Amino acid sequence: MHEINHFIYTLFMKKLVLLIAITMSLVLTACNQSPKKESEQDFQFLLEQFADLKIMRYRVPGFDELTLQQKELVYYLSQAALAGRDILFDQNYKYNLAIRRTLETIAEHYPGNRESEDFKNFMIYTKRVWFSNGIHHHYSKDKFFPEVSPEYFISLIRETNQGNFPVRDGQDLEGFIADIIPVIFDPAIAPKAVSQEAGKDLLLSSACNFYDGVTEKEAETYYAALKSNAIKNGSDTLVSFGLNSKLVKKNGVISEEVYKLGGLYGQAIKQIIYWLDKAAEVAENEQQKAVIKSLVKYYETGDLSIWDEYNVLWVKDLDSHIDFVNGFIENYGDPMGLKATWESVVNFKDLQATRRAETISANAQWFEDNSPVEARFKKTVVKGVSAKVITAAQLGGDCYPSTPIGINLPNADWIRKEHGSKSVTIENITYAYDRAALGNGMIEEFAGSPEEIELAKKYGALASNLHTDLHECLGHGSGQLLPGTRGDELKNYGSPLEEVRADLFALYYIADPKLMELGLYDNEGVFKAEYNSYIRNGLITQLTRIEPGKTIEQAHMRCRQLIAAWSYELGKDRNVIEVFTRDGKTYVKVNDHEALREVFGHMLAEVQRIKSEGDYEAGRNLIEKYAVQVDQQLHSEVLARFKKLNIAPYGGFINPVFVPVTENGVVVDIKVEYPDDYTGQMMHYSKNHSFLPTYN
Ligand code: ZN
Repeated sequence: MHEINHFIYTLFMKKLVLLIAITMSLVLTACNQSPKKESEQDFQFLLEQFADLKIMRYRVPGFDELTLQQKELVYYLSQAALAGRDILFDQNYKYNLAIRRTLETIAEHYPGNRESEDFKNFMIYTKRVWFSNGIHHHYSKDKFFPEVSPEYFISLIRETNQGNFPVRDGQDLEGFIADIIPVIFDPAIAPKAVSQEAGKDLLLSSACNFYDGVTEKEAETYYAALKSNAIKNGSDTLVSFGLNSKLVKKNGVISEEVYKLGGLYGQAIKQIIYWLDKAAEVAENEQQKAVIKSLVKYYETGDLSIWDEYNVLWVKDLDSHIDFVNGFIENYGDPMGLKATWESVVNFKDLQATRRAETISANAQWFEDNSPVEARFKKTVVKGVSAKVITAAQLGGDCYPSTPIGINLPNADWIRKEHGSKSVTIENITYAYDRAALGNGMIEEFAGSPEEIELAKKYGALASNLHTDLHECLGHGSGQLLPGTRGDELKNYGSPLEEVRADLFALYYIADPKLMELGLYDNEGVFKAEYNSYIRNGLITQLTRIEPGKTIEQAHMRCRQLIAAWSYELGKDRNVIEVFTRDGKTYVKVNDHEALREVFGHMLAEVQRIKSEGDYEAGRNLIEKYAVQVDQQLHSEVLARFKKLNIAPYGGFINPVFVPVTENGVVVDIKVEYPDDYTGQMMHYSKNHSFLPTYN
C-alpha cells in the first residue's frame, strides 16, 4: 500500500469506508494534466479555515458528458444522499439536533451585534457542530466547547426573540435554556461520544445515541441471545445483528427500535425511499434497478437479511457507470462496534484515470522483464493489478463534510468472501486535497528554488498519481522469492522493506521513456517533479508528522526516509542530491535526475535481492541505518517552520449542487454548480433536507 503523502492523512484513519484510504498519495484526474478552461484553472479549492478545520470543495469532472438519464440518476441519488443528514446528528448524540437548531435559529435571526468577537466565536462553534455532525469532535470524539461564556450564549437566545427554538412540549424559553445550556457547556455532561476507557461501562460512558438505559453487559447478552435463537430456528445467522437499530430499556424490558419506514428515523427514511424510487426509474440497466429496489425494500422493512441481499446485488453490479453507497454502514460510532451510522456517496467511473491504471497494468510483463533486478529474482509471468477510480458527485451523512478518499465495501465478511467487494479510490477528492494544499504555503516554505515550486505546481499531481499507479499496479506484484525462501524471514523489517521495494519500482520506472511511449505523460518535468518531492519529503517535510524527540516507526515513513537518505549517500561522490542551508533553513536539491534514476535502479536490485533471499541481516542494517533515527536539530527547525504556516490538520468538503433545467415541466438537462459558502450550504441543508423531529 502507498500512504497519502501529507499530514492530513490522519483524517482518513477513521478506517471508515476504507483501508484503501491510506493507499494513495496526492493525486489528480488524468483529465487535469493538460491546461483547461480559465475557470477551472482559477477554481478555488480551499474555502476557509477555523479551529483545527479547513473547508474545501471539489469539482465533478465528467458530469457534463453524462447522458441526460445518467445525470438524472446522479441527481436523484444525490437527493437521497442529503435526506438522511439529520439521522447522523441524532445518532451521534440525542441533543445534537436540539443544539444544531438552536445555533441555526440564532445564526439566522439574532438582531444584535454580529461583528463582536463573541458572536464570531459563536459562529465558529456553530461551524464546528456542522462539521462534526454534533458537539463531539469528528476525529477525537471529545466534546468541544464554544469560546463564549454561558451568559453570553443565554443572551443570544433571549434576544433572538422571533426565533423558533426547539423547545419541548409544554416547555417555556427559560425552561429550554435551563435544559440546553449545561448540555453545551458542562464538561461533565457527555464528555465523549465514543468511550473506550477500560474499566468503565462503554455504553454508559459514551454519549452516542445507539443505546438507552442499557449496560454493556445487557447489550452483549441481548445480541448473544438473538444469535443463538437464529441458530436454533435455522434462520439467517450471518446477518449483522444490531446494525440498524437503537437498543432501548423500557420498564425493565430491552428491545430494539429499528431504523425503517414507520420506525425510528422513519420520516427521513421516507424521503430517502422517495428519491431512491425516482432513481430506480432512470437506472442504467436491470441489475442496477434491482440493486436500488432491494435497498428500498430494506429501508421499508428494516430486515437485515434484505440488507445482505442488497449488498450481494450491489457487489455484482460492475457494469453500471453510476454507483452509490447509501445506508447504515460503518460502526466506528458505536463503542461496541455493532451499530452503524448513516452515510452516502454518489459517484461514477473516472474513465481516464481507470484507463491510465489499466495501461500500466497491461504492460506489467514488459516492466518486469526490463527491471534492473537480477534475472533469477524476476517473475517469468507477471500480472498487473488495475485500480478502479471513481469521481464523487455527492457526499452525505458520515461522509460529509469529512470525506474518505476511497471505498472498500461491503463490510460483512461472509459477503466479501463469497461474493467479493468493491474497492475504489476517489480521485477528484484527492485532487481537491492536493490543489487546496498548494495554497497553504508548504511548498514555498520547503522547496529549495522557484523552479522546483513551478515544477511541483505544474506536474506534481500527475506525477504523484503515476507513482501511486506504478507502486500499486506493478511494484508490490513484481519479483519472486528464491526456492526455499518463505517470505517471513525479514520479520518486523519486512513491511517497511516491502514499501521500499514498491516505491523504488515506481521511482525507477516513472523516469522510463516507456511511460512517454505509452502516452502517460509528455514532459520530463513529470518525473523530475516526482523525484524532487520524494527526496524533499523523505529527508525533510515528513518530519512535520513526527513529535519532538520521537523516532520514525510508521512503515511508509520509514520507507521514504530510507530511500531518500540511502540515495543521498550513494550519490554523494557525484553530488546527485545536495543538502544546503539558506538563511538558517535547510533545503535539499536534486542536481542530477538521470543519475538519481540509476541510483534508484541499483537500490531496487539490492532490495529485491534481500527479499528474494530473505536476507534478514542486510534488511535490518538498511532500516536501522537510514530509516529510524531523526536528526534532532533538523527536526526542531522543520517543526518551527511548519508551525508558522498554521495549517489546519483536518479537512472536509462542501458539495456541488445539481440543478435540473426544465422546459414545459420536463427535465431537459441538469447543471452542476459549485457553491463556495460553507455556512450557506449548511443552512440550506437544515432548511430543505431536514426531516426529523428534534427529539427522537
Ligand atoms: Zn504499498
